[in-house]
Amino acid sequence: MNAETTQDAIVPMIYVDQLRKSYGQLEVLKGVDLHVDPGEVITILGPSGSGKSTLLRCINYLEKPDGGDVYVDGEMIGYVKKGHHLQDVSPAALAKQRANVGMVFQSFNLFPHMTVLDNVMIGPIETLGRKKRDVRPLALDYLRRVGLAEKADAYPRQLSGGQQQRVAIARALAMQPKAILFDEPTSALDPELVGEVLRVMRDLADTGMTMVVVTHEVGFAREVSDRVYFMDGGRVVETGTPAQVIDNPQNPRTQQFFQST
Ligand code: ADP
Ligand code: MG
Repeated sequence: MNAETTQDAIVPMIYVDQLRKSYGQLEVLKGVDLHVDPGEVITILGPSGSGKSTLLRCINYLEKPDGGDVYVDGEMIGYVKKGHHLQDVSPAALAKQRANVGMVFQSFNLFPHMTVLDNVMIGPIETLGRKKRDVRPLALDYLRRVGLAEKADAYPRQLSGGQQQRVAIARALAMQPKAILFDEPTSALDPELVGEVLRVMRDLADTGMTMVVVTHEVGFAREVSDRVYFMDGGRVVETGTPAQVIDNPQNPRTQQFFQST
């Protein structure tokens, strides 16, 4: 590429090319393509077992894909260029690459023995080697953004599920990632706590964060996402705007899914 083309072209924040993953005999991802432009919010919808979680886990290399490539902001995850060849990155370099993509899980995964503030600070300190005194004001700022500054010294067990999930979002933000992946972030919550988490995610989308959200909240998908991917059986079977995929699906499997929800 010459300088002119690189200046004009948008480099996708996330670019997934023909991703494949099997567990033993079970082929879970059968060649998935996906791209997310900077600032875009994508939702992934689809039935249970269709490979949505596996896709997110492969995007940030919690799982190593069996085939295909993942690029984050133009950089291929898991490999470095050596001349004209690709080499596996070192574990330390892979950790740095993975830190570019935050992840929020259904089950929060906060450290129970650490305060809320320590949960938010641990990543930048341990993974990025930042100094505690530099990280602290940032961490407090992210807690403020999710509305939990006053809970900095509390322990996770003292918080509601919705509050714990908001801490998990602050923790992801503290790594200053280029994108955040959400895997059914509200599925473990009591119904009355879903709204506060979706509100924080909507605010985050408004600030321009690049987001990939696996969710069953069709209303959220319709209102907040720029584009929707519908997965079934380890493949993307339909993609487009929410108006296209949710309200006027073309694929029979997509039609059936939205009829029954
Ligand atoms: P979804 O998130 O869409 O419900 P998953 O990605 O969790 O789907 O799972 C897709 C398929 O892969 C399922 O059949 C599931 O049982 C299987 N699977 C997921 N993770 C593993 C694993 N670690 N080992 C074996 N099978 C797995
Ligand atoms: Mg899942």
